[in-house]
Amino acid sequence: DRKECCLEPTYRYSVELIEKLEAELEVPFPWEKYAQVPVADYLYGAMENTTATVFGDFFHVDNRAYLDRNYVEVNAHELVHQWFGDYVTARSFAHVWLQESFATHYARFLIGQLWGPDYYHWGRRTEHTLALAASQKDNLPIVHPNPGYARIYQKGSAVLDMMRYTFGNETFRRVITHYLRKHAYDVVETNDLYQAFQDAAGLSPAEFFEQWLYRGGEPHYRVRYQPIEKGGKAFTQVIVEQIQDTAIGLFRMPITLAVHYRGGGYDTVRALIRERREVVEVPNPNKKPIAFVLFDPGGWILKQVTFDKSVEELLAQLEGAPALLDRYDALLALRKVPLSAKREALLAAYQREKFWGLRAEIAAQLAADPANQAFIRQALRDPHPQVRFAVLANLNPLPASLLPDLEALLQDSSYVVEALALERLSEAFPRRVPQYLKKTADDLGVGHSVRIKHLEIAALHGDRAAVDKLVDYASVSFEFRTRQNALRALKALNLLPPNLLPHLFDALLSPNARLATVARECVDYWMQQTRFRQTLQNYYQQRSWSPAEKAVLAPLFEYKAPTFYQRSS
Ligand SMILES: [Zn+2]
Repeated sequence: DRKECCLEPTYRYSVELIEKLEAELEVPFPWEKYAQVPVADYLYGAMENTTATVFGDFFHVDNRAYLDRNYVEVNAHELVHQWFGDYVTARSFAHVWLQESFATHYARFLIGQLWGPDYYHWGRRTEHTLALAASQKDNLPIVHPNPGYARIYQKGSAVLDMMRYTFGNETFRRVITHYLRKHAYDVVETNDLYQAFQDAAGLSPAEFFEQWLYRGGEPHYRVRYQPIEKGGKAFTQVIVEQIQDTAIGLFRMPITLAVHYRGGGYDTVRALIRERREVVEVPNPNKKPIAFVLFDPGGWILKQVTFDKSVEELLAQLEGAPALLDRYDALLALRKVPLSAKREALLAAYQREKFWGLRAEIAAQLAADPANQAFIRQALRDPHPQVRFAVLANLNPLPASLLPDLEALLQDSSYVVEALALERLSEAFPRRVPQYLKKTADDLGVGHSVRIKHLEIAALHGDRAAVDKLVDYASVSFEFRTRQNALRALKALNLLPPNLLPHLFDALLSPNARLATVARECVDYWMQQTRFRQTLQNYYQQRSWSPAEKAVLAPLFEYKAPTFYQRSS
């Protein structure tokens, strides 16, 4: 029974999560019971109703699907809300970060507890990237009636990390425990957290709250350095400038500078960076030659950095930086460096790195080098599916000499890898399609992803029955992810059979926006083609619709005179 085999992987770690969170917060689970309720066609990921979290049944996964996507982090996020959200509740939406940022932050904390610190740091980087992307659009602060998703989830979570970094982990924990106990079963606002810093730690972090919570924007540092001598002593002089827009203002943060030397060893200074231009001197008592310099090692501060480094420095950083994220930054900067200058270093780093995220980045860069077959063969068998995926996605063209290794991926433990292997192999070696289809005939995948890819390829190779099956998967008999996948496959095939029309219109009118959006993309695409436009408009006009349905459909299908030329305005 499919349901039975989903139970353990779906709810994996549920008990450990509660125990670890109670230990971190030093506040026991505040309710009498905890239930989790999977529901069909859920509009969001999940919802933290007090004592009864509801979540989308697309998180119901078996052991294989678990590898690609699972409920663990969402499980943790909603669990945290039983404290931050339900036990203490934001007074108004302007303070909702007291719920969402905390749920995001502690979920990542718990993932780090379960799977190790690399996962914690990797999650931090993802949050920084999303928070900085939001600042491309506006600079609204976190404490604001409508600051946007990335502020109340990711940026706020990063701010909690910066609290740990700035005030110390134990101080942070003491403050949070005090804050929770003091406001138990009550409403809170941002100032209550500030008060907790005063009450529990004797701190008045007005500046920190001002620059990170009440004001928007992030610092952008420009960094460069040079070795200098003063009175016979050697220093590394680091010049730090804040070059963000003056409207954002200056930030005042303690930042670590670490100077690493050739042959090992390093010196470090933690300096308060507050002016537009600061000069920090890091003593180099043994007058060693510099290998590379790190600004904010470990990447704790939410920021942009412009810090040009030579290929030699980047390779040294990739090999010698203690923190995962600094080695990852070196890899990102190496993307634009030609393979000949980095190949050996990347090959060595691949063997060294324990965390899949770094191996996936290395594999993506080295896959552009099909000459190195020994490496590609090894990476295609990497224990982590995201690494195998990265090689397969970046290998171009697929070399025939690697056929046995590539075809082995048709039986990969990850459905995502299997579906990509099926697609890429069928494209590259069309004469072998019948045997590829045979090999993958029994697998379904999440949202029937493998099955639907299988049918799409079969249809492309003339199997008419496959089209009917795709139409069936687009119908109300299936959950929305299967319907999304089927609609996308039919769009890719550019096929609009008449028996799809009722399912397509049902999807367009679905209250589930994720399904309706995909249906709309299909309609927009087909409406551009004369033969399909007629079919769609006829179906729309020959039926009667309720006023609500008409409001959705009319803008899509009502007759518009074709324009003879594009007006310029
Ligand atoms: Zn939440």
